[in-house]
Amino acid sequence: MATIKLSVVSPDRLVYENDIAMLIVRSTGGELGILPRHAPLVTGLIPHAMRIKLPGEAAEHLLAVGGGFMEVTPEKIAVMVSAAEEPEEIDVLRAQRSLARAKERIAAFGKGAANDATDIDMERARLSLMRAVARLKATGNDVDA
Ligand code: ATP
Repeated sequence: MATIKLSVVSPDRLVYENDIAMLIVRSTGGELGILPRHAPLVTGLIPHAMRIKLPGEAAEHLLAVGGGFMEVTPEKIAVMVSAAEEPEEIDVLRAQRSLARAKERIAAFGKGAANDATDIDMERARLSLMRAVARLKATGNDVDA
């Protein structure tokens, strides 16, 4: 079976490296499926649980990633993100607390309670929420967000 090399790096480490059959990501332009010999591509990624299909395995492997970039060539996928974790590295309680904090901030901004909140504050809260949801999804938790 044809494979393509995937590497996922965060600022401090190589989080994942493997020969894979397919990668499904959430790019800034929507969901993308990358197969071996894909046309060259560079795109932004938003925080999500990326789905890795390994050759000969039906089950998908999940990896939580923050925002970043992906560069695809026909032989290799290079993912560079602000943070990435394997499911077993994820502290679920921490992600649940982070999600609750982000939801509270977003609700407060929406009510005008924080009048000095800028668009940047709102965007930071939104991205924090998305990272928490990505971590909870990667660990198989149902998320209502
Ligand atoms: P929090 O609000 O809990 O700090 P965050 O989304 O702000 O989360 P990041 O800035 O994305 O955190 O990540 C900072 C570092 O902490 C990274 O090394 C990331 O891998 C790690 N990290 C963040 N949340 C978790 C978690 N729930 N479980 C394990 N590691 C985590």
